[in-house]
Amino acid sequence: MTEPVSPLRLPPQATDAGQRMQQYPPPETWDDWVEWDQRQWPRKVPRHYMLVPTVCFNCESACGLLGWVDKETFQVRKFEGNPAHPGSRGRNCAKGPATLNQVNDPDRILYPLKRAGGRGEGRWVRVSWEEVLQDIGGRIRRALQEGRHNEVMYHVGRPGHDGLMEWILPAWGVDSHNSHTNICSAGARAGYAFWMGFDRPSPDHAAANVILLISSHLETGHYFNPHAQRIVEGQMAGAKLIVFDTRLSNTASRADTWIAPWPGSEAAILLAIANHLISTNRYDRDFVRRWVNWEEYLRLVHPDSPVTFESFETALKSLYAKYSFEFAARESGVEARLLRSIAEDVANCGGKLAAHNWRSAAAGNLGGWQVARCLFLLSVLTGSIGVEGGTSANAWDKWVPRPHRLAPHVKRWNELTWPGEYPLSYFEMSFLLPHFLKEGRGKLDVYFSRVYNPMWTNPDGFTWLEVLRDESKIGLHVALTPTWSETAWWADYVLPMGHGSERHDLMSQETHAGQWIAFRQPVRRVALERIGKKVHRTYEANPGQVWEETEFWVDLSWEIDPDGSLGIRQYFESPYRPGERITMDEYFGWMFENSVPGLPEAAAKEGLTPLAYMRRNGAFEIRAGAEAEFERPLSPEEVAAADVDEKTGILYTRAPASPPKNIVPTPAPVATGLGRPIGVMIDGVPQFGFRTPSRKLEFYSTTLAEFGWPELAIPEYIRSHVHPDLVDRAANEFVLLSTYRLPTLIHTRSANAKWLVEISHSNPTWMHTSDAARLGLATGDLLRVATEIGYFVDRVWVTEGIRPGVIACSHHLGRWRLAEGEGTSRMASALVELKESGGRWDLRQRKGVGPYKSSDPDTERIWWTDAGVHQNLTFPVQPDPVSGSHCWHQKVKVTRAEPEDRYGDVHVDTRESHEVFKRWLALTRPPKGGWRRPHWMLRPFRPDAEAYRSAPSPRAGVSGRSQ
Ligand code: SF4
Repeated sequence: MTEPVSPLRLPPQATDAGQRMQQYPPPETWDDWVEWDQRQWPRKVPRHYMLVPTVCFNCESACGLLGWVDKETFQVRKFEGNPAHPGSRGRNCAKGPATLNQVNDPDRILYPLKRAGGRGEGRWVRVSWEEVLQDIGGRIRRALQEGRHNEVMYHVGRPGHDGLMEWILPAWGVDSHNSHTNICSAGARAGYAFWMGFDRPSPDHAAANVILLISSHLETGHYFNPHAQRIVEGQMAGAKLIVFDTRLSNTASRADTWIAPWPGSEAAILLAIANHLISTNRYDRDFVRRWVNWEEYLRLVHPDSPVTFESFETALKSLYAKYSFEFAARESGVEARLLRSIAEDVANCGGKLAAHNWRSAAAGNLGGWQVARCLFLLSVLTGSIGVEGGTSANAWDKWVPRPHRLAPHVKRWNELTWPGEYPLSYFEMSFLLPHFLKEGRGKLDVYFSRVYNPMWTNPDGFTWLEVLRDESKIGLHVALTPTWSETAWWADYVLPMGHGSERHDLMSQETHAGQWIAFRQPVRRVALERIGKKVHRTYEANPGQVWEETEFWVDLSWEIDPDGSLGIRQYFESPYRPGERITMDEYFGWMFENSVPGLPEAAAKEGLTPLAYMRRNGAFEIRAGAEAEFERPLSPEEVAAADVDEKTGILYTRAPASPPKNIVPTPAPVATGLGRPIGVMIDGVPQFGFRTPSRKLEFYSTTLAEFGWPELAIPEYIRSHVHPDLVDRAANEFVLLSTYRLPTLIHTRSANAKWLVEISHSNPTWMHTSDAARLGLATGDLLRVATEIGYFVDRVWVTEGIRPGVIACSHHLGRWRLAEGEGTSRMASALVELKESGGRWDLRQRKGVGPYKSSDPDTERIWWTDAGVHQNLTFPVQPDPVSGSHCWHQKVKVTRAEPEDRYGDVHVDTRESHEVFKRWLALTRPPKGGWRRPHWMLRPFRPDAEAYRSAPSPRAGVSGRSQ
């Protein structure tokens, strides 16, 4: 029994409870911080902790965490915020501290597993990492030697690292990256990218006068906690918060002005606001004159008009005159007077408009990308670009270091991810993969799914299931995952990868006006190394044999090319010990020494190496405050080495430019026959400009015009596929909003976090009181929601907090498993029965959630029974023909449940889903001859320029086309 210890024997900080409540442990005490052990209360028993910084992995925000490692057991006891992290500033949402649940999850995968029976039978054997590497490495080696590069695919859900796969995959010589972007942010990315060449905004909420959000951004959006704290800061300093959200979200409840427009009408409202600014001459005339490509617009669209700013202003007035407040009110259902008052607020923002749309309307609607484009028009008109309180481009506020060695651009193009029909997509057409495989466009020999659960997260999950179980389409499926998922169940290998405190990664996000970099660390490994223990591989320090991807990819690359004859191994050799395998200290240490501005100097001031600095602090602030790259004057040397195109004012290099240090993709040379564009003349001054073909903000996108969409080349309103005219409300048709997040959940991995699941475990369908009365429904009644390809059965929640004619259901719930004690976490999933007959699938819940015995006594205290309903299974794929974004909103028919219906039932016909896929595919237009994609546009893992040429005709011979 431990005796109570006198406070006098403790360091001073542990004796002052008041101080502890108000402050973080000071960094100089992180090696040995002492607190009373709460489990020993009321006795005062001290426990010694080593505090190791890391980065949360539970959403994209990359907030800082401190892992509290018990110095007696070397187990992590808790996670709190890292005050040294410039993005999160010591704060976290509920999901950050819940990392502890994921680490201690009794159902987690602890060892590498190999399938023992047929796919999906759920029989597994434990294998060693050596066996895994040999088998997979040998298979990839054969594929590469036989020229089947496009049969190797890496498909990621939550990347959680910057720059890693840009190091790995090009070294293998494959164009095989696949992402989840097109079920997430593709619409918004496209809207921003056509304007400025960058596909994300970085609003400076804290210093704004007006904050305009098209999403439930403050509570769950992109970048949730770092943005939320700055939005509130902005409000406290007097900023007005305007929120467009069809649903009364927590964000809407904080707004000064909340409107609930009909889904898909957002762009009409934004253009009415733009029209107000233009028609009342309350826009930043000088900014627009200097930085918008109005001359190009006039030359191409109004060739008979004089190329003067005045004639552009005349054109602008007439272009948007049709977007009156009354028109927008008809489209949106929001009163014109309210829209006018929002427009007045925007007009009075004083050049400080922080505006953001990420998923929400941009991800919900056909043409959703124009919502982001129209929103950015307001930022441009108010001159709020790159200034304090305005909106910047993401790359100005983000830093991605280059590793010691990068392979050249690959000379291949993968049509399974970048098909000819979608030359402007942002990015890979990932959610169409199963349809492409069904059509015979190719096959996969080795398919890595990584922290990704497409069968559950994506639309049309049963089509995924049909493909994942078919070994003729996917030869080997390797699931790299920290937890079980519906998708991992159908894998051949299930390989446990670490949670946020069990891995190395670099992260930098545009969370505010500034620039920072953070270091995710395996806290137990770092703690053991601090006391002098040698750890060769991270799985030696993690629970079981949970590994991390960075080391895994290095070892796998050596296995693919053991003797270096394929030219792959060289990229994974130490920069310090030629010919030897690179270590994690060397990989990250080299970047900290050579590729993070200011870090070596800051570390030297503290007498540390850059690596030691990052291991101790976990983050480094590169720059504070807004910085607008486009306004940077070119140096006399740059100007001397450039030619100016007299017509456009663009400056091109004469000599090949040296590669940029930052590996945020940079537009490659436009096909001009000149060098690389480096700037543009503005009022006679050579300045850096934007990363667009014109080097200016592109009000008129020549790219859109040339690639078949001339009528959409300027910010325009596109009628959504759920426009009110297409929804027959008298026939009980509704629009289903299916995209909203819950603040406490993550897509897949929160199922393994008991605190989070206890808080959120139901996803009833929201319905307005008037609609419920019409249908005779009361809260708790079962209803059947029918989509084009099937239906799901859910309970209704009757509320005033949603627009009549619209229903909503969160996509965060409805987890399921096929076996009693295995697969998806039992605290969050229903045990289901799955039946199939010729493409007709029926899923029925056999048992909900309940208490069970495990290594965690809390699982016997589970009091909830609900696992929610899996609505995404019933959604067909609906790819926007321009951005490639899945258009999530569904037109549905709602009825009372049938007598045979049960809560959670799902019925789907995948033959119908394939027909819907073909119908949406037919909306695409043939790309510009000879180009698979405009070369200037962002593309992750940009191949060699030659690979962009010679796209096959997308409509010719789709069937049977092979790679
Ligand atoms: S917002 Fe929450 S989940 Fe996202 S990184 Fe921060 S703490 Fe983690």
